[in-house]
Amino acid sequence: MTRYSAWSVFKNGLSGQNNWGRAWRDPEPAKKYDIVIVGAGLHGLATAYYLAKNHGLKNIAVLEKGWLGGGNAGRNTTIVRSNYMMPVNRQFYEHSLKLWENLSHELNFNVMFSQRAHISLLHSPAARDAAARRYNIMRLTGTDAELWDLATLQQEVPHLNYHNARFPITGAAVQRRAGTARHDAVAWGYARAADQLGVDIIQNCEVTAVRREHGRIIALHTSRGEIEATKIGFAVAGNSSRLWQMAGMEKLPIESHKLQAFVSEPLKPLLDQVVVFGVGGAHFYISQSDKGGMVFGGDLDWYKSYAQRGNLPIVQDTCEAAISILPCLGRVRLLRHWAGIMDMSMDGSPFICKTPIENLYLNAGWNYGGFKASPASGWYFADLIANDRPHPTIENFSLQRFEQGINIDERGAGPDPKLHG
Ligand SMILES: Cc1cc2nc3c(=O)[nH]c(=O)nc-3n(C[C@H](O)[C@H](O)[C@H](O)COP(=O)(O)OP(=O)(O)OC[C@H]3O[C@@H](n4cnc5c(N)ncnc54)[C@H](O)[C@@H]3O)c2cc1C
Repeated sequence: MTRYSAWSVFKNGLSGQNNWGRAWRDPEPAKKYDIVIVGAGLHGLATAYYLAKNHGLKNIAVLEKGWLGGGNAGRNTTIVRSNYMMPVNRQFYEHSLKLWENLSHELNFNVMFSQRAHISLLHSPAARDAAARRYNIMRLTGTDAELWDLATLQQEVPHLNYHNARFPITGAAVQRRAGTARHDAVAWGYARAADQLGVDIIQNCEVTAVRREHGRIIALHTSRGEIEATKIGFAVAGNSSRLWQMAGMEKLPIESHKLQAFVSEPLKPLLDQVVVFGVGGAHFYISQSDKGGMVFGGDLDWYKSYAQRGNLPIVQDTCEAAISILPCLGRVRLLRHWAGIMDMSMDGSPFICKTPIENLYLNAGWNYGGFKASPASGWYFADLIANDRPHPTIENFSLQRFEQGINIDERGAGPDPKLHG
């Protein structure tokens, strides 16, 4: 496999860019693997990569019912940040951000990670107090964090509605190392790097049933035949409950909801940062892509569904929020909008854990935040599968945390999955 470099671009330029090889193979599924990961989204691909890279394991397959990166991996608004306060979350997301900072080099693939700052707008003294608590804890524990007054914010982000907003803007909480990345480049980068380490990535291979014997999974029935496996990891995001049911298990503490994203026609440079607005029932986040499109999103569609398209009231809701903080978007045309299926957990936190089935491991419950988490998620899930015990950082990301009363609900929204944005 060619290593990408300035030299390889130059060399292929001499032959009209016609001699690039495939980025990854398209193998036929083998009859048996040591480890099978179901789901070629970011979490599944990252897990396969770290299993091979960090643990030297071979004979691994990733099974994907569609094409790799065609789920939420290719549908999100790509915000990467680590502005968490609760102990476990802080360590986990900061580890993820550190992996992001070197990911293009690690994978030899430009994931276009742009550390352009994440700016959460503040609208009241109470919001500033809450932000001060969270951002000061971040600073004390080694994560970058800043609080901006109104004058600084106006200088850095001049186009916001500072004059007649329904909720006047009073300042901002900022993480400068946060930013965005190109979502499908991340999926392609992990896929290519995992493939180079010998992982079989098998697309158009839907898992349709699970064969269990004596408390273990023996094989997966797929649309491309039966595949035996010694260890199995589920990383299917919004489809987690479906696969869980196939494995003959009770309900997961997860609901599947739809989340939409939007992109406008391309504009000249308007917004250099990621801006987040959340007050009085509004929830809105926006950044500008390298092609100039304004990329934004809001809340869930408020009802459970497996459809990958959204409904119009949320389009209206999100556009209202957009206009209320960036009125200059008023005459910009919307180019596209789409939806993904979110695996919303009861406390807004993920599961990276063993399951009641001895050789089945679960990676799920990413809510709206699974893009930024994907490097660390793959890292720790691989560690769990390889060593058959959770790393201390993810010990609380277990299915037992509800019965043990372990509180990692960062948002404090309580046991209503749709409130965990
Ligand atoms: C609109 C939107 C905006 C978002 N914005 C952000 C953001 O700004 N920042 C952030 O951090 N997160 C964001 N997220 C969340 C993030 O995208 C997800 O949490 C994350 O992508 C989920 O992990 P994944 O990539 O592994 O999932 P997916 O890409 O969904 O991967 C799961 C894969 O499993 C496959 N699969 C399912 N069932 C089967 C089966 N039976 N057999 C084989 N394969 C199967 C699916 O086809 C899919 O490819 C957003 C999500 C959406 C939808």
